[in-house]
Amino acid sequence: MAIFAAVLVGCSGNGQTTAALDETEASASIDITYCRAHWCLTPDSMFIKGSVATHFKSVTGKVSTIDFDLMGHLQVDSVVSHGRCLSFEHSDNKLIVNLPAAVKPGATDSVAVYYHGELKATGLGSIGVNSSTHSIWTISEPYSARDWWPARQNLLDKIDSMDIVVNCPAKYKVATNGLVVSDLTYGDRRITHYHERHPLNYYTIGVAVGDYAVIEGRSVQPTGDTVPLVYYHWLTNKMKAKHKITLADSMLMLYSDYFFPYPFADEKYGQVVIGGEYNLEHQTMSFLAEPDNVVVLAHELTHQWFGNYVTCKGWSNIWINEGFATFGELLALEHIIPHAVWDWHDYTINNALQAKGAIYVTDTTSHDTIFDEPTTYRKGAMVVVMLRSEIGEQAFQQGCRMLLERYGNGFATVEDARQCFEQAADTSLAEFFKCWIYGTGYPQFTVDYDNSQSNKTVIDIQQAIVEANPEAPKFFPMHITVRLVGKNAKKDVRLHLTSPQQQFVVPADFKVNRVIFDPNKDILGTWCYKEGSKHGGNSVHNSNSK
Ligand SMILES: [Zn+2]
Repeated sequence: MAIFAAVLVGCSGNGQTTAALDETEASASIDITYCRAHWCLTPDSMFIKGSVATHFKSVTGKVSTIDFDLMGHLQVDSVVSHGRCLSFEHSDNKLIVNLPAAVKPGATDSVAVYYHGELKATGLGSIGVNSSTHSIWTISEPYSARDWWPARQNLLDKIDSMDIVVNCPAKYKVATNGLVVSDLTYGDRRITHYHERHPLNYYTIGVAVGDYAVIEGRSVQPTGDTVPLVYYHWLTNKMKAKHKITLADSMLMLYSDYFFPYPFADEKYGQVVIGGEYNLEHQTMSFLAEPDNVVVLAHELTHQWFGNYVTCKGWSNIWINEGFATFGELLALEHIIPHAVWDWHDYTINNALQAKGAIYVTDTTSHDTIFDEPTTYRKGAMVVVMLRSEIGEQAFQQGCRMLLERYGNGFATVEDARQCFEQAADTSLAEFFKCWIYGTGYPQFTVDYDNSQSNKTVIDIQQAIVEANPEAPKFFPMHITVRLVGKNAKKDVRLHLTSPQQQFVVPADFKVNRVIFDPNKDILGTWCYKEGSKHGGNSVHNSNSK
């Protein structure tokens, strides 16, 4: 998810707490193998009528009930299994279905829930309608799938495959997950059937129905696979719509090459324009509230790898989704719009300095905490940037690939990620994760240098930690890049800061006129020259020397 405001990103929920909705409370004794959903939706209307058949396997123990999350204001008409109506209880936004006989370990069964009602948006705008564009769309992250369908809202078990059938007025089009199986009109109604063959999370299922025009394209991947591209839009300018397909193609190529082949290449990559203010990474179909923001496009596309293919194992591990998706913004800029990289760093660092807590989220009951923009998005991305800088580009890419290969189609924790990057880099990252993932605060650097001698430069670095929390790390060990600049020469060196105050003597075979600290702005922190330094009038970071 990305909620972008102004230049780049603004993210905040509505502050609603969802106590007792922690995803880990869901029973792990059931494996959902398949869902088939029928939804009747009409743009301009908040009425839904639908049914969802859930097929499951008992994993451990006998299963005698199955529970779903479903808002109480939606009316359950019946629950059916093998042609028989089952008894159920629907209270406290939970639907508990009594199975006719206990399902033994390893055995399978299914239930179908029939329901209807007026939709009410909660959370991050779970249901949106726009009367001027005649559209309706859904957004379910993190706890709002229950606003419109009976889901099992947990991050322990993906739905292995799914059929989605949407009934809407014939003049509208339907955008959702997977591939179109059939798209037929019957009188004044259209029935569109999609099939998603890859495992998917409850919150990455989304439906948009609207008066859309559709542009299609293809992306030939580095693997030789051809990925169908599709763009649902309201644009009257066809060239502009075609440009979106070209951009999606470029980014898809980039991420497939950099991270891992596009996980849904045998289906499609789609984008659909919606109203509202939230963008969401529904599997194989990004929902875009800000389709003209290139950074949004990059962010949502990166989620197909980080968020959809590999998913955070519980919202505490949201860094797996949002840290990497926000880093994907930088990756796209580095390769497609390099002149915008510096602004991204400025925006991201300035915002990340406002982070309130640790990246590892301990309170997952609040939207605001999980999706806090300075912490989860901006600091999360800077930690990925620092990780790349710390272990090097090659090991970083290898670690990303390992994470995707090991945990693709499933879930990963930040510790799973740590192990992948440690293995790729053949080094311990325990201290790095302790400081940056579990810790709070950031370093404040006071620097100075003496370049009066012709063959060496003496560099002084002091690090203090800015953080009110007394439990915050007292020192962040790290490597710092400094750039020595002469008349016609420059040299980057990596200094290993192992104590809060350290002096380095750096040899150089040219006369050093100035030193630039962290020239690529890869470090989250603040910088200033020591009081009285003769270099104090200069910027520590100097973009002109890049
Ligand atoms: Zn996101």
